[in-house]
Amino acid sequence: MEMDMNDINLDKSAQQADEPIVRMHGLNKHFGSLHVLNNIDLEVSQGEVVVVIGASGSGKSTMIRCINGLEEFQSGELRVDSHDLLPHGKASRALQTIRTEVGMVFQQFNLFPHLCVRDNVTLAPMKVRGVPQSDAIATAERLLDRVGIRDQADKYPSQLSGGQQQRVALARALAMEPRLMLFDEPTSALDPEMIGEVLDAMRELAREGMTMIIVTHEMGFAREVADRVIYIHQGEIVEQGAPEEVFDNPRNERTQNFLARVL
Ligand code: ADP
Ligand code: MG
Repeated sequence: MEMDMNDINLDKSAQQADEPIVRMHGLNKHFGSLHVLNNIDLEVSQGEVVVVIGASGSGKSTMIRCINGLEEFQSGELRVDSHDLLPHGKASRALQTIRTEVGMVFQQFNLFPHLCVRDNVTLAPMKVRGVPQSDAIATAERLLDRVGIRDQADKYPSQLSGGQQQRVALARALAMEPRLMLFDEPTSALDPEMIGEVLDAMRELAREGMTMIIVTHEMGFAREVADRVIYIHQGEIVEQGAPEEVFDNPRNERTQNFLARVL
């Protein structure tokens, strides 16, 4: 029987599709005596868009930072794209792999200030993935075009608006061809008139099937893009479900109180 490479690849992706990209089980995280994440269970499937909401200090950032190894945890299981992250930051090889496969966009854009927009986007693919410069540039221009700022490629971050900088940060993360994208309040540092352009780019990404975990206070956006909304209170997931369930019919009193304050 003849076997061709396409069959093999199809088989492989079908197998991987069964496995959640993120599998967090019984995760605990302490900062000193502060128990910041309390027995968190979270599974995220391929192509799923999960929005995380909750009050300031509830542990949202810490939870998603554990997923790409920016924070260590003390106990529990965490598997990201078939790589195990171990408690106390052990297994550094898995950590390196995960960091190349998981893209992150922060509240503060964290662009390299001394590099022009194009070089911000090409740096990691060239240095980390060994992509040839000409290919990296072609990819950068395609991605910058996609987020609507191709004409800004020669500028430096300080010459751009906040909304433009955040779209560069998104293009930079996408240039690594991530399997999962994490967003930590990507519009919280933006002037109101710039929030829409960043949310539009994220909405587009969600539509294309990217797996995304998004911490945001933009409840309208959450309702629109989320497959699932998770409410965290003091380091515990106290409620989750489809957006219409969580927003329109929250069962937990804490969720009700939180939503009454923010909606
Ligand atoms: P959120 O993103 O929901 O606002 P965080 O995950 O940033 O919450 O923080 C959760 C808790 O952990 C807060 O009480 C915060 O003060 C504390 N915390 C966060 N980072 C650190 C740190 N590096 N050292 C000590 N405490 C921290
Ligand atoms: Mg936070």
